[in-house]
Amino acid sequence: MKCDVKDTDAVKQMPKTIYLDNAATTILKPEVLDAMMPYLTEKYGNPSSIHSFGAGCSAVCESARKTIAGLINAKDNEIYFTSGGSESDNWAIKSVAYMKKDKGKHIITSAVEHHAVLETCEFLQRDGFEISFVGVDDKGIIKIDELKAAIRPDTILISVIYANNEIGTIQPIKEIGEIARSKGILFHTDAVQAFGHVPIDVEKENIDMMSASAHKIHGPKGIGMLYMKNNVKLTPMIHGGPHERKRRAGTSNVPGIVGFGKAAELSSISMAKNNAKITEKRNYLIDRILSEIPYSRLNGDRDRRLPGNANISFRYIEGESMLMMVDMKGIAASTGSACASGSLDPSHVLLAIGLPHEIAHGSLRMTLSEFTTKEELDYTVEALKEVVSKLRAMSPLYEDAMKKKEE
Ligand SMILES: *Cc1c(COP(=O)(O)O)cnc(C)c1O
Repeated sequence: MKCDVKDTDAVKQMPKTIYLDNAATTILKPEVLDAMMPYLTEKYGNPSSIHSFGAGCSAVCESARKTIAGLINAKDNEIYFTSGGSESDNWAIKSVAYMKKDKGKHIITSAVEHHAVLETCEFLQRDGFEISFVGVDDKGIIKIDELKAAIRPDTILISVIYANNEIGTIQPIKEIGEIARSKGILFHTDAVQAFGHVPIDVEKENIDMMSASAHKIHGPKGIGMLYMKNNVKLTPMIHGGPHERKRRAGTSNVPGIVGFGKAAELSSISMAKNNAKITEKRNYLIDRILSEIPYSRLNGDRDRRLPGNANISFRYIEGESMLMMVDMKGIAASTGSACASGSLDPSHVLLAIGLPHEIAHGSLRMTLSEFTTKEELDYTVEALKEVVSKLRAMSPLYEDAMKKKEE
């Protein structure tokens, strides 16, 4: 890729809405909306009904289930629709805990989980379960030796995030799955950031349970799924009617399921091509920032990383101020996970990779999609350069550091 585009007039005059927060949520693709529309209007049947109104809706849901299963090499009847990633994480972890509590009350997870897993484990901890939070290296990759050493006779579950939502690090899932299976321990992975973005094979990777969500792959919000291997058979968390093979009650979210299926289909068709393009743009963004803005560092692994993720720390400044200033320039980014924004605690993920508090505080996450253009990235780099130097000019920390350098 040619990287010689400079601050052209076109860049200066860009319409200023640049969305670089695709890890928080993504734009709904027009094809997805088109597929959903009939089920929001004239085709409003309940798939559980016997009449023809319902039957048509049941068929489209089963077709979406098939598409989603195919994308991860699962069987159709191993896919259970839920309201999203958070519900799937809660269901997998709590159900295993309460089903297996007579065998043991020990769960292993990582120090870099999404809040949906982290808080679920902390809830169980308050209810008498023991949780081991296995550490990661400075790139965010789980320490396999520490994981192996944490396994005990009463360990009932290992849950490790597939790809991190803050720093994009992709975990050695196959290896973790192998370890769990060899010990007869169930293995769950939160793959909300990975599903539809990187190739996944639940069979080859020894995955027993896996969470995914539609709105992270240009589908609608409020619909997701839990993959559950046929021999796992979790007890329901939501009780009621016989939906989802009696495991998850509630009238099927037909438009959501259809949209999820369409989004999964679209992402599988163009995954390899899109990933190559997004990775190239992400590297362009990272390289320009690291070379043009002093005292900046990339967080996470350069290569074992989600295609769209760039997470960068800028020393001597505050992430929240930076976020507000780039927002005024029309750029939507994030300081970490959207759920943690607004709190002043630094990200648990950045602390887990060993960043000191003050550097963790000065971090910005920019997440690209297939719709992100190079012009948008050029505009973003110019905006960041301006914002960073403005904030540093006001920063006593920066002033001190520069004085020390002169001495
Ligand atoms: C977004 C996200 C979730 C939550 O999914 P929802 O569908 O919004 O509930 C869980 N885990 C990860 C890694 C995520 O990125």
